[in-house]
Amino acid sequence: MRLDDTQGRPLRNLRLSVTDRCNLRCQYCMPEEEYAWLPRQEILHFGEIAALVDVFTGLGVDRVRLTGGEPLLRRELARLVTMLAAKPALRDLALTTNGILLGDQAQTLRDAGLGRVTVSLDTLRPERFTALTRRTTHAQVLEGIGAAVRVGFAGLKLDTVVIRGLNDDELVDLVEFARRAPAELRFIEYMDVGGATRWSMAQVVPRSEILAVLERRYGRIEPIVEDSSAPADRYRLADGTVFGIISSTTQPFCARCDRSRLTADGTWYLCLYAREGVDLRGPFRAGATPDELRALITGRWQARTDRGAEERLRLRDRAPLLGPGELRADPRLEMHTRGG
Ligand code: SAM
Ligand code: SF4
Ligand code: SF4
Repeated sequence: MRLDDTQGRPLRNLRLSVTDRCNLRCQYCMPEEEYAWLPRQEILHFGEIAALVDVFTGLGVDRVRLTGGEPLLRRELARLVTMLAAKPALRDLALTTNGILLGDQAQTLRDAGLGRVTVSLDTLRPERFTALTRRTTHAQVLEGIGAAVRVGFAGLKLDTVVIRGLNDDELVDLVEFARRAPAELRFIEYMDVGGATRWSMAQVVPRSEILAVLERRYGRIEPIVEDSSAPADRYRLADGTVFGIISSTTQPFCARCDRSRLTADGTWYLCLYAREGVDLRGPFRAGATPDELRALITGRWQARTDRGAEERLRLRDRAPLLGPGELRADPRLEMHTRGG
């Protein structure tokens, strides 16, 4: 089954946010003191999530990434992993985490059938981590990365949001750390998404600059040519080390975007930048049949025209997408609710 949008982009990747709660307060994602949270009774139960995933796999989704907020804060997440891992239609079941609770949960998650893990790691310096996240748990993140390797997750990835003046002096250190882990590092350009209320273009370190810094240290960097809908462009250093760059801000990849997002309260977004989502919880809890839900999703995906990041690129004076007031009024617009 392949369901295409108006531009021939299939519905294939689903990012599943299992909670809007987080145990960090990253400056680029949750910089405010107070947040409005999704009402507890609106959070989908595991059975509801699994049933909705079945509806999506019936339409061609074969990759699911669990995210949040911090997904490892969701109680008994491994139980959901077990339920999803049992679905033959899912070829790939992955998780993005800040790593803090991974030391405790890595083995259980692996035993439950989780396929792949990505850990966000923006700095190797504990005091910088504290300034960036307002928490003192850097050592736990490193422990979490160690645990992911130890329990045998293959293809571990580390994601680094690069911010000028904050961590752009650590690019080489992070490449070296990842090589030793071993893991594949991916640099992410700072994005002007919901939640990034302190974003400015001046703080974005573009892909070209990241490559120039690494080239000065490592010499020639070879682009890896591959036909993929993955957001990262991958590169190889002379010694064989591979890393990626996700240049969503300066060179967006909307043309091949096959991903959509389901928030913890069952709102489905067709683009990271979309203001409006499709309520799936309402119809589901009102007793809609799988066929009815499939029809709803099919109609919306077939009408999809979104190219949010490209539209942002065309703006002259680019400022944060949303202000704190708009985000408080609808917490689903937040990156930590949408899942990144
Ligand atoms: N809490 C988990 C974590 O941090 O890995 C999962 C959710 S988080 C929203 C998913 C990803 O979005 C993280 O890698 C994070 O660095 C990234 N992210 C959040 N805000 C961002 C921004 N303004 N620009 C670029 N990436 C961002
Ligand atoms: Fe940081 Fe992820 Fe939490 Fe956002 S959701 S504050 S990126 S750890
Ligand atoms: Fe896909 Fe929207 Fe991101 Fe473009 S901005 S890559 S369409 S989610």
